[in-house]
Amino acid sequence: MRVEQATVIVVGGGPGGSSTAHYLAKNGIDVLILEKATYPRDKTCGDGLTPRTVVELVRMGLPMREDEGWVRNYGIRGSGAGNFVEVPWPKLASQPNYGSGRRREVIDEELVRHAQASGARLMEGVTVTGAIRDGAGRVVGVTARENASKEEFEVHGQFVVDAGGVSARLATSIGREKDPKRPMGVAVRAYFRSPLATTTFMESQLELWAGKPGESEQLPGYAWIFAVGDGLVNVGLGSLSSTATPTGIDYRKVFNTWLENTPPEWELTPENQVGKVKSAALPMAFNRQPLYADGLALVGDAGGMVSPFNGEGIAYALAAGRVVADYLAQALVRDSAAERDAVMAGYVEDMRGELGGYYTLGRVFAWLIEKPAIMHACVKYGLPRKTLMKLVMKLLSDAYDRRGGDWMDRLITLATKVVPRA
Ligand SMILES: Cc1cc2nc3c(=O)[nH]c(=O)nc-3n(C[C@H](O)[C@H](O)[C@H](O)COP(=O)(O)OP(=O)(O)OC[C@H]3O[C@@H](n4cnc5c(N)ncnc54)[C@H](O)[C@@H]3O)c2cc1C
Repeated sequence: MRVEQATVIVVGGGPGGSSTAHYLAKNGIDVLILEKATYPRDKTCGDGLTPRTVVELVRMGLPMREDEGWVRNYGIRGSGAGNFVEVPWPKLASQPNYGSGRRREVIDEELVRHAQASGARLMEGVTVTGAIRDGAGRVVGVTARENASKEEFEVHGQFVVDAGGVSARLATSIGREKDPKRPMGVAVRAYFRSPLATTTFMESQLELWAGKPGESEQLPGYAWIFAVGDGLVNVGLGSLSSTATPTGIDYRKVFNTWLENTPPEWELTPENQVGKVKSAALPMAFNRQPLYADGLALVGDAGGMVSPFNGEGIAYALAAGRVVADYLAQALVRDSAAERDAVMAGYVEDMRGELGGYYTLGRVFAWLIEKPAIMHACVKYGLPRKTLMKLVMKLLSDAYDRRGGDWMDRLITLATKVVPRA
């Protein structure tokens, strides 16, 4: 059987995999991305890029030129229970005051090409089928298959990173299962041509109804409309469950009913729909742990890094790739497996230190808002209160300064520190 070599093997070329590979390659480390799809490849997503995501894209040096179709948004517009609020992104030391929206088919290819330009190697159309372990149980490579020729081969390396998304097949295959007690989201989305394509606010409808608004059963979740450039909007709705237990709700049906009840001037009609309605799951609050053990690190959705507050996962996948690459570079210059593992413990510690408390608060949030009555009361009495909404938006969008900042930032930081880490 053919055997390939790479110092670090990255499974999956989504944002998490590309970020990991970019930072490793910049460090002069030989890194190989194995991606089962071929680019451009789609990924079911809302395509919303908050300022926190922009921070990571800027760090990576990804060009984001407006004359190359990069749109900008300047805040969130929320509505529900007859109320309406517009909250601009806050001015922070740690984040710019704008976000963006870009189709994943486009940005994911830009990210992987960026990693290649930094020196990463890429094999597209290659599915990773399993882990290779040594006598001590350490992951020292992967088995893979060329999709076109069906040729099976092995790749041997010193570390493997599973950035293979929500299914995390590699991690699962060695027994690193997801925790069913952590929150899980399900979301549906479609693209439309719409006058809202020029909007500079991310639109959120904070109440979902099984039928006509106000006259039918209220469901847990919210709907969004994000401008993504090219005259298109990404329209979707998501539900949140505080555990991985399926809700039994037919979200595609809810989506269609919801679309029928949107204002006619938004023009979200079947004639204006571009492509199919697609749905996928969102793994939240570190639902797969440990993030590193036995030579295998988890990055992005594979490690359940989506925020339970808003369903955002790109920023965290990009950040995790940056952090893991830093620790991998240090681990690679150590001699023994024990020393390397001690270095890699820093990756777990940093990720949980940065996000563990925040995600624990998110788990409480998920538990509260899956009860429609609580969600309704929050929307009804909360939305009209401007200061409260500013605080809520900072919390939900992770748009707060962790060091310094205003009283709201300090309050959120304190809250994340007093709760146990996820
Ligand atoms: C409907 C929906 C809406 C969302 N909206 C937003 C949003 O607006 N903003 C936001 O920030 N986040 C959003 N998210 C979350 C976001 O999509 C994910 O958090 C993000 O894609 C995680 O990136 P990743 O690199 O970890 O995984 P992915 O983007 O899933 O990439 C994983 C890659 O691994 C590849 N792969 C998988 N298995 C294998 C294998 N065996 N061999 C080789 N390759 C493999 C896949 O083909 C894929 O390219 C949304 C998610 C959903 C489902």
